[in-house]
Amino acid sequence: MDRDPSEFPIQHIRGVGPQRAGLLSRLDIRTSLDALYYLPYRYEDRRNIKTICCLSCEQKETTTGNIVSMDVIRLPRSRHTIFELVISDGTGLLTGKWFNQPYMKRNFKVGQGIILSGVVKRNAYRATGIEMDNPEYEHTDNDADNLVHASRIVPVYRTTAGMSVRVLRSILFNAVHTCAEHLVDPVPAELLARYNLPQLRESLCTTHFPGPEADMESLENGTNSYRRRLCFDELFNLELGIALMRKGATRQRGIAFSPKGKLVGNLLEGLAFRLTAAQERVFREILADMKKPFPMNRLIQGDVGCGKTIVALMAMLSSVECGYQAALMVPTEILAEQHYLALHRLVEGLGLRICLLTGSSKERPSEEISSGKTQIVVGTHALIQEGVAFKKLGLIVIDEQHRFGVMQRASLRRKARNPDVLVMTATPIPRTLAMTAYGDLDCSVIDTLPPGRSAVETRLFQARRKQCIYEAISSEVKRKRQVYVVYPVIEESETSDLKSALIGKMALEKIFPDFRVGLLHGKMKPAEREAVMSSFKSGEIDILVSTTVIEVGVDVPNATLMVIVHAERFGLSQLHQLRGRVGRGSDQSCCLLVAYPPFSEEAERRLAIMVKTSDGFRIAEEDLALRGPGEFFGTKQSGMPDLRVANIVRDAGLLGSARKEAFAMIENDPGLDKVPPLKKSVERFWQGKMDLFKTA
Ligand code: ADP
Ligand code: MG
Repeated sequence: MDRDPSEFPIQHIRGVGPQRAGLLSRLDIRTSLDALYYLPYRYEDRRNIKTICCLSCEQKETTTGNIVSMDVIRLPRSRHTIFELVISDGTGLLTGKWFNQPYMKRNFKVGQGIILSGVVKRNAYRATGIEMDNPEYEHTDNDADNLVHASRIVPVYRTTAGMSVRVLRSILFNAVHTCAEHLVDPVPAELLARYNLPQLRESLCTTHFPGPEADMESLENGTNSYRRRLCFDELFNLELGIALMRKGATRQRGIAFSPKGKLVGNLLEGLAFRLTAAQERVFREILADMKKPFPMNRLIQGDVGCGKTIVALMAMLSSVECGYQAALMVPTEILAEQHYLALHRLVEGLGLRICLLTGSSKERPSEEISSGKTQIVVGTHALIQEGVAFKKLGLIVIDEQHRFGVMQRASLRRKARNPDVLVMTATPIPRTLAMTAYGDLDCSVIDTLPPGRSAVETRLFQARRKQCIYEAISSEVKRKRQVYVVYPVIEESETSDLKSALIGKMALEKIFPDFRVGLLHGKMKPAEREAVMSSFKSGEIDILVSTTVIEVGVDVPNATLMVIVHAERFGLSQLHQLRGRVGRGSDQSCCLLVAYPPFSEEAERRLAIMVKTSDGFRIAEEDLALRGPGEFFGTKQSGMPDLRVANIVRDAGLLGSARKEAFAMIENDPGLDKVPPLKKSVERFWQGKMDLFKTA
């Protein structure tokens, strides 16, 4: 029989029948290899099982005995219950107590052997004298079990309904002991030696069932060398895939643009400002890519307001000058409309045509696009739909990239034959995350703001100090400036105490009868929304009450005050994006965060960070630390495989090494033909997410 664990079905492991196999598949365990990589999320130190008479009070202890009695006790005059059981091991008695879990009774029978772990407490009113509250428990059926479930550091796994941790642990114990020896280590030995990493087999065995001398602390915090080895594998597989994608891209033939720079020159002449040095540098980097004979894949990072749009326009004009169309894709209709309006003037001034394509555009400009009459198209997802055909698309720009994944990028790319792709994001990404989430892209950073901008002053107010906020709004409008007031939701639902934008608008109209108040929210019809946006832009609205639809990209330089209501409910990156809507002109701008106590410690920290700094990278890093990499616009969304063992914040150093080695390896052996086990491992890790080897 084939003993390769990746082919060895889990049913062949002792203790697994069809029913358990079904349960295990819910945990994504189908083969023995899946089982070997199903790692514990924590451990329990049961090396020292004490007899009951030797337990010390106020210590976390583990002991074992047989159940002598049990009962569910109802507390008088309340709905609360306590489930209690008493165990004996011949040296003494111990009570285990569980609060408000009367169903626990079903798990036990008098006479059964169990292990209890928990903090021992003295209780003089009880016959046993000592007790444990909500202890961890496990059944023991015989002494041999102690080898797996007690008398050692015991692994604890996440499990699924219908399968106890204990059963799962037994299965994994059997899997490790049956299959680990047949594992082939895919990582070349010289690499392991260079980074001082242990063998795969040893690493898996000890990560599941640590030896008697293991150190609990390093097991729990993930710094243990065996677990590090497994982290390395995961990161190495990830980076090999990324390196393959990159290699594949440089192998494809793309368009070698050769613009003379006339259109860009004309554009710059007509602008009211000069480019910043950072904008010039990034445009040079883009141009260098565009001139190369393979497709560009570049990410531009730049904080809100740093001026990415004009750089994108310069790239699009370079494409147009060479006879190719260019498309700009953005995540929301509001943003598409706004980009269209802003670029329209500039583009038509150069004698070119531009059109807008969104889901709700009434007339579909399909003919204009397919005939090539329009050189530049601005739009939403509608751009990637069937039926939209370009005559000759050369460059795709994707704005606010964090809303789109790798997959959507790929479908837009299919609209043309290997076009150049430029993606832009205003959510600064810590370097480590950028390497994984956007690892298939080259990266440029616009790291300075245009001159004359002063940082937005940010202040935190408790909701009860409404008067100060009204005064701030009033003084701003009297100076002919405009104000945003942002609310988290649109309708007041009965269960929520959120102040809706609608009610907020009515309240403001009452307080300021002389001011013009507008409303903008995501459920409005596009035409209404467009009308509101353009009257705000032209100054016919003083106060724009809105939901978070204005979060990305909206640009009205005369708006100098932003009030964010229920600021405690927003995430850090979102607050930063919202705040970026003001401070876009040369006037001092202000952002008032209105918080409704009580709120969590985490919310308090978010608000404090906002008041303290306006540096997008600092904020992104804090956000990453607060929410963890999974949540921070998940790697999920970006289309990359999940990381199960590694944590790119904790393992940043290892990630760097894995990346270096992976890129070097792909450079020398682009098909991974010299290392078949490694090739198999990369394919397994990426699970058909990309056709990695097809282009190779
Ligand atoms: P973002 O990077 O957030 O997309 P935008 O491209 O919308 O920023 O630019 C923000 C504002 O700054 C726009 O009004 C734009 O015209 C202006 N701007 C861009 N570059 C410069 C510059 N070099 N000097 C002065 N203003 C600029
Ligand atoms: Mg923008």
